Amino acid sequence: MKFISRNQINLGFVLIILSGLMLGLTIINWTLLFFSGIFIVAYFILDKNKLRCPHCKGFENLERLMYAKNHVHYCRHCGERLVIR
Ligand SMILES: [Zn+2]
Repeated sequence: MKFISRNQINLGFVLIILSGLMLGLTIINWTLLFFSGIFIVAYFILDKNKLRCPHCKGFENLERLMYAKNHVHYCRHCGERLVIR
């Protein structure tokens, strides 16, 4: 059974939050921009490899995946059900 990992969705969410936080804190220290960049790159790598429809590799944004964790959700590309574990 193909599925998307719940932990990886959470990790993606945390990476986005951290990136945004670091970006906000560049007001205090501009070197945090560097860390913000690392988090965003890490997110894109995770997104490209793991946060895709397991059936057709179609892109699903993070909000939809967060929703899919608690609801029945179908891929908008291939119509297959996205199973989150
Ligand atoms: Zn699909």
